[in-house]
Amino acid sequence: MGRLTLVDGRVLDYQVRQSARAKYMRMNLSADKGLVVTQPVGVGEQQLRDWIHGKLDWITDNLPKVERYTAPLMDAPALPEYLEFPVTGERFRLVYTPTSRHNIAADIGDDGTLTLSGAVGNPEHCRYVLREWTKNYARYHLGQMLQQLATQTGLGYVSYSVKGQETRWGSCSTRGNINLNYKLVLLPVEWVRYTLIHELCHTVEMNHSTRFWALVAKFAPDYKAIHAQMKGAMQYLPDWTKGG
Ligand SMILES: [Zn+2]
Repeated sequence: MGRLTLVDGRVLDYQVRQSARAKYMRMNLSADKGLVVTQPVGVGEQQLRDWIHGKLDWITDNLPKVERYTAPLMDAPALPEYLEFPVTGERFRLVYTPTSRHNIAADIGDDGTLTLSGAVGNPEHCRYVLREWTKNYARYHLGQMLQQLATQTGLGYVSYSVKGQETRWGSCSTRGNINLNYKLVLLPVEWVRYTLIHELCHTVEMNHSTRFWALVAKFAPDYKAIHAQMKGAMQYLPDWTKGG
């Protein structure tokens, strides 16, 4: 037995039969037996799965035959309807369009919609695409903000990168490389500004000494309140941001 996720989000269970006489893999869809895959002896599990996945278009086209063997995917957490980024003030309405392609493409329309099209029936895959898309968005916009703040404060950095850390908003290496969490783009602008200033100040003071905080206070006088609010804020981020 195996289970296949179809492009529209339904699952289809299938049977696997080994045959000593079979030379090639083959599949059969019928109203009385559902999807049955026959394989020669010695075919590995991964090879079998890849082969079945390659037949997804054919299965989808012939689905009416086996409609009663399909079931909706259970317990799938809801996908977001909007993406909102306080750092830019931009808000994108999300549209999920199922097609027969096996991957998912993300495209911005002129009307401010972000369309995910392809195998959108797989919510785990959708969330992965949303994370990757947001990472790219964050890489550009956080980079611009960092550059502006570096100019304003006179604090330099060598390079920056954007990652999906689970526990920290940012970090700074002794060489002056700043790592920023892409999830910052989901937070209030003042919080983002404080985080970037915090990391820029580390290019001068690689510690959390009194001198360090005095430097932070020079550029972000209200840093104490923000610093306190940001502790524990990670757990309030939307579900789709969780995972690699
Ligand atoms: Zn720090």
